[in-house]
Amino acid sequence: MTDLSFFIEPVYIATIFFFIVGLQRMSHPLTARTGIVWAGAAMFIATIVTFFMPNLTNLALIAIAIVIGGGFGYIAAKRVAMTDMPQMIALYNGMGGGAAACISAVVLLGTPTEVTGSLAVVGGLIGAVSFSGSIIAFLKLQGWMPARAISFTGQQVLNLLIFLLAAISGACIIIQPAFIPLAVSMYLPLFFVLALGFGLLMTLPIGGADMPVVISMYNAFTGLAVALDGFSFASPNYAMIVAGVIVGAAGSILTLQMAKAMNRSLTNVFFGAFGAKDESGGEVKGSMKAIEADDAAILLAYATKVIIAPGYGMAVAQAQQKVKELTDLLGKKDITVKFAIHPVAGRMPGHMNVLLAEAGVSYDQLFDRDEINPEFPATDVVLVIGANDTVNPAAHRQGSPLFGMPVLDVEQAKNVIVLKRGQGRGFAGIENDLFYRDNTKMLYGDAQETVGKLVQALKKL
Ligand code: NDP
Repeated sequence: MTDLSFFIEPVYIATIFFFIVGLQRMSHPLTARTGIVWAGAAMFIATIVTFFMPNLTNLALIAIAIVIGGGFGYIAAKRVAMTDMPQMIALYNGMGGGAAACISAVVLLGTPTEVTGSLAVVGGLIGAVSFSGSIIAFLKLQGWMPARAISFTGQQVLNLLIFLLAAISGACIIIQPAFIPLAVSMYLPLFFVLALGFGLLMTLPIGGADMPVVISMYNAFTGLAVALDGFSFASPNYAMIVAGVIVGAAGSILTLQMAKAMNRSLTNVFFGAFGAKDESGGEVKGSMKAIEADDAAILLAYATKVIIAPGYGMAVAQAQQKVKELTDLLGKKDITVKFAIHPVAGRMPGHMNVLLAEAGVSYDQLFDRDEINPEFPATDVVLVIGANDTVNPAAHRQGSPLFGMPVLDVEQAKNVIVLKRGQGRGFAGIENDLFYRDNTKMLYGDAQETVGKLVQALKKL
């Protein structure tokens, strides 16, 4: 067969360019979809061209694995509900980490040099941690295990010990010291068992509300592991290195931005056992006051300024189209309508922006927390649509599991109308005293239905 390997490197370079364009386009909601296409095309081309590598064996096995994995991924991605997307991302990200760990294992089972072997050990450690940690994140988000922080005495010491043992066994694979009475073939499985155990134990004490930060960090880990693996081959794989570095860098930036949005340091996220218990001593006073759609519509009709704070419940109810209808109707009545977008509203970064964009709400109407918070005191009505943690004033109280998370200060508005189905709590599982305040009224029901009723009632006024 003709050797076509000469064009592998140039094609890899071209795919690197595609990756960068894709990432650049993903940075704005309007171009994000095409950004995904650019990056996907780059990945597809890089995969195809890899088949032309000289001395590649087991071609049929590789092809079968790609068909099974790709088929499963395609069907699962088509079927997944928008609200289940974070756990799907956690799962797929974990698979990436696992694949990187497997590549490290293959390198280490061969004849690596001290340098390539060390790179494979570090890549394997990070990949395995990302794999088992992401699986725990998936189970927590899917509700297949308790979302709360699971902590016990001595946990951090145990975690540190397991990490050190993993690092030592990893070093032993390379150095193979004579004074440790263990067969070389034992170091590798021991190393991976310890690394997987560390990822698992490291994620257990992290509460559900911190999961977005954790998923994003494991995403960065996977990227880093892939990049290290790219370096660990006898001849480096540039597509893996660049794609890995891009994912690692983008994931790290996202992690830091999300941690900042929740006002939490990464040490606090990983060692703070967030969501364990509420020790703020804050008590809920008063009672929840229900309002009917007709009365809520009258309040809206007499307002000059309305702010809508959407959350996870809007996504569950798929109420975005109705919300757009309501926005247009209020606009026609010369009422200023703005949207208060909390960075972690919903279940994934940008969740609200994506849904509202899908419904055709203009970007000019979306404001982030820092921009909109000063406007609440001069707002007639705030409509909280399926949001809870992101509008919980408990975040201002020391000892609350939410303490320090910057929230939307909707309680400062003249009137607050909360649209939710009943007494359900938010993701962090804690009480929200906003619902009991004098200026808050509860409009109960599925958000799509209640927003629809508001639209009908407003049309009649
Ligand atoms: P929350 O999850 O705190 O609250 C959602 C509320 O929506 C619930 O109180 C529920 O009350 C209500 N709801 C559910 N279904 C419906 C429906 N069909 N119609 C009307 N209301 C409904 O939402 P937020 O968006 O305020 O906060 C997001 C939380 O999720 C944060 O704690 C965040 O940290 C976390 N998170 C965020 C991620 C991200 O990246 N954005 C990822 C993972 C977690 P009821 O049952 O009474 O209707």
